[in-house]
Order: sequence, then C-alpha cells, then structure tokens
Amino acid sequence: MTARVVTSEPPRHTVYTEAMEVFHRAAELIGLDRRVRMELEEPDYEHIFYVTVKLHTRLAPLAASDQPRYKDLTDSEVLPDGLEPLLDGSFVFKRRALINANVSMRDGVMRLKGKGLYRVVPGRPERFKAYRVQHNQARGPYKGGIRYHQDVSLDLFKVLAAEMTWKTAIADVPFGGAKGGIKVDPKTLSSEELEALTLRYMYRLKPLIGPNLDIPAPDVGTDGTIMGLLLRQFTDGERERHSLRGVVTGKDTRIGGSEGRVKATGQGLAYCIQEWYADRGATPAGSTFVVQGFGNVGSNAAEILAGMASRLLAVNDAGGTIFNPSGIDVPDLISYVYDNPSNLRRTVAGYPKAQQISKNDLWDVDADILVPAALGGEITGPVAERLKVKLVAEGANGPTTPEGDRVLAKRGIELIPDIIGNAGGVTVSYYEWIQNKRMEHWSEIEVNGRLEQAIKSNYRIIRDIARNSPRRTATHNSQRYCIGREVDMRTAAMVLALKRIEAHYQLEGFSQ
Ligand code: NAD
Repeated sequence: MTARVVTSEPPRHTVYTEAMEVFHRAAELIGLDRRVRMELEEPDYEHIFYVTVKLHTRLAPLAASDQPRYKDLTDSEVLPDGLEPLLDGSFVFKRRALINANVSMRDGVMRLKGKGLYRVVPGRPERFKAYRVQHNQARGPYKGGIRYHQDVSLDLFKVLAAEMTWKTAIADVPFGGAKGGIKVDPKTLSSEELEALTLRYMYRLKPLIGPNLDIPAPDVGTDGTIMGLLLRQFTDGERERHSLRGVVTGKDTRIGGSEGRVKATGQGLAYCIQEWYADRGATPAGSTFVVQGFGNVGSNAAEILAGMASRLLAVNDAGGTIFNPSGIDVPDLISYVYDNPSNLRRTVAGYPKAQQISKNDLWDVDADILVPAALGGEITGPVAERLKVKLVAEGANGPTTPEGDRVLAKRGIELIPDIIGNAGGVTVSYYEWIQNKRMEHWSEIEVNGRLEQAIKSNYRIIRDIARNSPRRTATHNSQRYCIGREVDMRTAAMVLALKRIEAHYQLEGFSQ
C-alpha cells in the first residue's frame, strides 16, 4: 500500500475569491458562527447546462481582403422586409426576402444595393452554455437576475449570486441569492432567435425554479420582454398558471409587473444619494455627476438625479464617451439613445450637444458624484487614483475592485456600496412578487413611497454601523447591528447582511 501525500495548495485566486474578501473581513469582525460561515462560503447549487437553437441564414459583411475578387458583381435586389439588421453589422436573411428578388451571386457572395458585399452563412444549429447559481436560501426563495452576455463564467455567476444573498438581506426582503444566464452576445441574434433561446433556456431551467423556490429577474442583456417569454414558457399548460405569475419579476406592468420596477434600481440609488446629502444638511440640488453605463440603471438614475437639480457632465457607455462642462440635458440624451431608430446600439456616442472624449478622460472629470452603472471591475486602483469626485455611488454590481476600494478610502472619497446602492431593483421585485401573490396592482406612488422608506432606513442602519453610532429613531434601529468599532461603508453593509442571515441559522437551526 502506498501512502498518499496530501499537499495543501494555496487557494486559487479568482473573481469569486476576490469578491468574497469583504465577506471574510466582516465575518471575522463579528465572529460569525463557523458553520454559518461555511454555509455561506460556497453556493448551495451550481447548475451548468447547454441550450441549442437553430440560427437562421445570415448575410455577413465580406472581409475587406476578399472584396477585390467580387468587384464586378452586380447589385442584387431583395425585399428589404426580409432582411433583419443585427447589431454586429450582419443581416438575418428571411425567405420572404426572395419574393420578386433579382439575385446575382458568386461563391455565396452577393452585393446588396447601397450596402456592399455580403457572404451568405447558411442557417445552422448552435449550442450555448447556460448557468443558474443558487447561493443561499436561509432567508427565503433564491432570487436573482438573468444575464445574457458573452463574458460570463461560473465564477462570475457565483460572485453575482452571493451578492444577491447579501443584497436581499440588506434590503430586508424575504429572499436568498441566485444569478444565472447564457454565454451569448444578444446583439448577434435576431429577435426570433433570442426568443427561441429564451424559451429553450426556461425549458431546461424549469425543474430548478418556481415562485416559491427561485425567482429570476432582468439583468444585463435581458428585459421585461424576455421576462414575459420566461413566464409563458414556465406556465404553459399549467392548470393554475395565474398563480405562478410570481415566478419571474421585472415583467411588463400589463402582465403582472409592478409600477416603478423599470426605474427602481436608479430610483433606489437616487434615494441613497439624497440621504448622503441629507446627512450633511444638504440636498443634491446644484451638485454635478458623471455616469458610466446608460442602460436601465444609468439612464434612470441620471434622469432622477437631474430631477433633483443635479447636473450631468459626462457619460461613458460601450459605444463611447461624451462630455459637456455646462451640463447635459438628460431627457434629450435619453431620447437620442432610445427613441432614435438609427441608433441601433443605443449608445450616447455621437450625441451632438456634447464633446466626444475618450473613456480614459471620463475618470478625470471634476464632479461631485460618480455613478458607475455598467459592468464590474471598472474602478481599479489606478482609476481610483485619478478620480476627482467626492462620492462614488455604485449602481453596477461590483464596479470597484478591492484595490480600488483601498485607494478610495486612502483618498477620502466616500462610497455608497452596490449592495445598498442598487438594492432598489430587488426591493421592488419583492413588491411585484407580493402583488402577484395577492393579485393586486399598486400605484407608482405607493411603490415609491415604500421603496424610499425601505432604502433610506436600511441605508441609515449601514451608516450607523460604519460610524459605530447605535441609534433607535422613528425610521430605523441600528442598535442590534453596530459592532463596537468604526468600519468602512462596504464592510458595514456586509455586517448588516451577515447579522440578518445569521439570525435565521441561530433561531431556526440547521436542517439535517
Ligand atoms: P443594461 O444592459 O441596461 O446597460 C448596461 C450599460 O452599460 C449600457 O449603457 C452599455 O453600453 C454599458 N456598458 C457595457 N459594457 C461597457 C463597457 N465595457 N464600458 C462602458 N460601458 C459599458 O444593464 P443595466 O440593467 O443597466 O445594469 C447595469 C449594471 O447594474 C450591471 O452591473 C447590473 O448587474 C447592475 N444592476 C442592474 C439592476 C437592474 O435592475 N437592471 C439591478 C441591480 C444591479
């Protein structure tokens, strides 16, 4: 018999281990029960599966190097209705394009009148990798968004699922944490293909989720339309399908969505910023801000802040960066991005009433507030060194790296951490879920009133933990949560989450 030598390898460094640094820091500080810590250190379940979809025939732009060979190719005329433009520059070629068409093709290459040379790529089935990570359900059903993006991974979904566990605890809604999605660039798919992919994803996901088990919502690359498709696929053929409406949140208001849900994340962030100013005896009026990402969170936060008389100076998104030192008219920019059919990529790039600057220059803009509302990992140490803002109000999930955090702290730049900053979305998702259960429909005033009270009171508890100033007021009670010393805001938010989760294990025990 040979003896096995067990060497203890250093733990692998991943985005997940990096994101969990704050968890471990807060766990140490509060002396979190060892077993609770183990339960939370890794997700309950990590599901990876595959979905296949039949892609239609496409016309893909011909590579420049191949173009001289087809100089003499005459124009083809096809029915424009039969071509669906995709954001990657190709077209989905539908059969009806050939009705009364006049096509001249060589080696599968054709010249589209007024558009240039394209190669026909025949339709084929394609396989996509899909995920659902269910992190923890001590406080209630798993809850978390669905992301369609080309740069996702198991580690990233683990980070995002754990973030949801902390966020639902901080928002004090009765859910746990989950996240999932598909490794796909939705911009390369037609609307029909996206629908087929979504239905197939839910077909595979159905055994794993449910209104009292795991409740998805929109995230990057998905929206209310996708939620409608997920709802239909989940409930199709079910005898009591209307009682299952709460299986996804973020639905259109006409099919059980909540008023105020679309704006909720931006609205919650604006309430936090308002509270940050209120704490200094001021309001956001007269302040200036910069936004990264002009999607759901960024554009709504910008619109609400502008409504509070704060001035938008610069915006960066995936397409470009714009800057106007005298202020950008937010409703006008929203209309440029979202109501302009020729702005296919829905980008701020090219907005005529501002200068076009480089992304790098965004970080140097002198403003009061920076709202990161795009993807994670953007505010690195070097970026944090350059910032000329007083407050970073995180709308995106994980926009600041641990190194970025250290630099912000060193430079005295204040922080509204993501897990409270963008908790407005999941808070109103909870309101949507209750309304579905009760078959009710609340007004936007009612939703926003509840949201403001919830976000601001939880924000105050986190602030009190950070300052070690236990208090009980008419709106909040931080006495149970302060830990006898001051901590930074991100750690304070995690302390609140862990204490609320730990209570469930302490008072309910562990199932065997
Ligand atoms: P979205 O898809 O609507 O918008 C994303 C925006 O980010 C777009 O403007 C896009 O151009 C920009 N972007 C993408 N890649 C970029 C890059 N490399 N550089 C600069 N900009 C880039 O997404 P969203 O729903 O607004 O979500 C934004 C962030 O907020 C994500 O981190 C998401 O996880 C988080 N979040 C969203 C919600 C919600 O309710 N939508 C809730 C909580 C957290």
